[in-house]
Order: sequence, then structure tokens, then C-alpha cells
Amino acid sequence: MERMSDEQRWMAHAMALAAKAEALGEVPVGAVVVLNREIIGEGWNSPITDSDPTAHAEIMALRQAGERSANYRLPNAELYVTLEPCVMCAGAMVHARIKRVVFGAFDPKSGAAGSIFNLLPSEQPFNHRVEATGGVLEAECAEQLKTFFRKRRKAQRAAGTAAGNSTLAASGAASTGGSSI
Ligand SMILES: [Zn+2]
Repeated sequence: MERMSDEQRWMAHAMALAAKAEALGEVPVGAVVVLNREIIGEGWNSPITDSDPTAHAEIMALRQAGERSANYRLPNAELYVTLEPCVMCAGAMVHARIKRVVFGAFDPKSGAAGSIFNLLPSEQPFNHRVEATGGVLEAECAEQLKTFFRKRRKAQRAAGTAAGNSTLAASGAASTGGSSI
């Protein structure tokens, strides 16, 4: 592989964090918050494990970054995440005054950076502009998600009854499965 850019390196790190989510049986999404070329926050998707609907990778990474900087605002920080952020995470990034979000795969079901909602880059009436760049290591990030859903469907087919089986297969087949994140 060619030499990775900084962006690709941070994204590869986010992918490694996504693998931690997958090991917990969660949809593999990972995020890192970077400030002055240093990681100040890491997170991975864990809503099922934590019984917390807000435990998306971005939120977890922002929480850690806030704690470490002892500041609820992170004005010069960048957030790297393997999947296009949802509406909740886009809002959290505006609250945190994040400078830029960089994401990997697009989420055609609930993405808030243009796929479904246009909240990133954040414009008026938000009082803060978060820049946004999509498609960094896009193929790799998408493949990580697709592989997870493929494996899960296979396991469900093996375990499921005929009725459960068809429902699960139908709900998982549509896309990379953003809606279930
Ligand atoms: Zn989210």
C-alpha cells in the first residue's frame, strides 16, 4: 500500500476502534478526536452493551476528549469516524465546536452529512460551522460494515426459525445497515 496520509492514518485508527465494537457484538463504528496531531478521545459504538441509545462512537470519543481537556468545547479538534454521522452526533459536534469531521463510509439510511440530512458541514442557523470531509478510506470502512452485516445475517439464518429468518434477512439486506446503528 502507498504511504498513508495523516487523514488515512487517523481513519485506520478509527477502524481499529470499530473492531472493538464488533467484538462486543455491536455495529462496527469507531471514532477518534485529534488535536494538534494527538489523539485526545477514542470511542466505539456501544449502545447495546451500555443500554444507552446515545452511545455512538462519536459521542463516546467526544466525552473522552472533553474529560481529558477538562473542557466541554474542543474548538481546534477534528473528529474521524468510520461512518457518516447521524443527526444526534452532528448536533453534538456543533455543541463541542469541533473544527472538522472526517468520515469514511456514507450512510444512505441516516447520514447527516448530505446522504439524508444536510447538517454537516453545519451552516446557518447553527452558531458554529463544522467542516466536513467524507469518503476517506471509504471502501475499507464500508467493507468493515458490510462484512459485519453479512456475518450477522448468516448467523441469524443458522439460528433463526423460518419466520424470524425471513424478517431479519429482509431488514438487514437493504444497505450497510445504518438504521440499526
Ligand atoms: Zn450518531
